[in-house]
Amino acid sequence: MVFCTDCGQQQEDNQKFCRFCGERLPGPALIQQLRDEAASIKANKTGQSTQTQQANLATLKAIEMARQQNFDDQS
Ligand SMILES: [Zn+2]
Repeated sequence: MVFCTDCGQQQEDNQKFCRFCGERLPGPALIQQLRDEAASIKANKTGQSTQTQQANLATLKAIEMARQQNFDDQS
C-alpha cells in the first residue's frame, strides 16, 4: 500500500502515477527509505522516553531518600 506524495490518496502498490491527481508515485526503494527513516525516528523517540523515565525515577528516588533522611533526623 502506498500513498500519493501530492494529494495523499491511497494507491495500489503497482501504480506508477496517482489516479487522483497524476503525481508520480514513489518507487519501492523510496518507500523502503521512508520506512527506515520512520523506524529510526521511532527508535530515537523511544530512547528519549526511556531516558526521561530513568530521570524521573532518579528524581523520585532522591525525594524518597530526602524524606527518609528528614524522618531519621526527627526521630
Ligand atoms: Zn495524488
